[in-house]
Amino acid sequence: MSDRVAVVTGSARGIGRAVALRLAADGFRVVVSDLPGSEGIALVVEDIRVAGGTALGVAADVSDPEEVKTLFERVGAEWGRVDVLVNNAGIARDNLLVRISDAEWAQTIAVNLTGTFLCTRQAIRFMMKQKNGRIINLSSVVGLYGNAGQSHYAASKAGVVGFTRSVAKEYGGRGITANVVAPGYIATAMTEGFSEEAQRQLLQQIPAGRAGTPEEVAAVVSFLASADAAYVNGQVIAVDGGMK
Ligand code: NAD
Repeated sequence: MSDRVAVVTGSARGIGRAVALRLAADGFRVVVSDLPGSEGIALVVEDIRVAGGTALGVAADVSDPEEVKTLFERVGAEWGRVDVLVNNAGIARDNLLVRISDAEWAQTIAVNLTGTFLCTRQAIRFMMKQKNGRIINLSSVVGLYGNAGQSHYAASKAGVVGFTRSVAKEYGGRGITANVVAPGYIATAMTEGFSEEAQRQLLQQIPAGRAGTPEEVAAVVSFLASADAAYVNGQVIAVDGGMK
């Protein structure tokens, strides 16, 4: 598997970072991608190299079609293939529906849903040529069940599920699978700003009694990227400690 290439968006920190490290440990050459200016890109690349893996850092805003095109041109020029795409880049700006501005709505959809589409559209060209590929999209339990204060985020993440299931049907005959990983409450920068009360309420809903770790999400991504998951397609796998 040493020549195989995995692209992980939003991998300068959090779940994306854990996925990048895990896939590198699994033997993939990993493209660490995040927003231009993200200092974490170089740090994650270095962490992978120190651990004996191979990594390439490429900055790109997934909501920008030109930057996404350039990202995959760069991957093509450097490594010539894309075996796994993990659409992990995402934003959550909680707000009550009546207070969500047009710009907030548009940005949430642009990053979480359109970004997933733009990266998949580029990666699938490589995968079709290879007659092999794995697309792994990060949704959320919020996209499956909804959550007060997150209607824009939930809509974008529900969109990711419909998108993924369609890709699974459209390309499943060409050796390409597309699956969703839907985390529950995972301890990252995205959730550390939650108030104590919000955290207490969340933990009450989780039979495991704790937040999940980025590494626990990465383990499921690793499985979906592995040869063992060849017959898993169009699925949504929650990693939520039994929350839903
Ligand atoms: P995080 O905020 O720690 O990391 C997200 C990363 O995405 C950041 O490095 C950020 O710079 C990057 N990013 C944001 N906008 C981008 C853009 N336009 N282009 C490229 N990169 C961009 O978040 P996280 O908790 O690690 O979440 C990772 C994914 O998992 C997200 O899609 C999130 O919605 C999803 N998720 C997280 C949780 C949780 O509890 N943490 C739960 C469910 C789903």
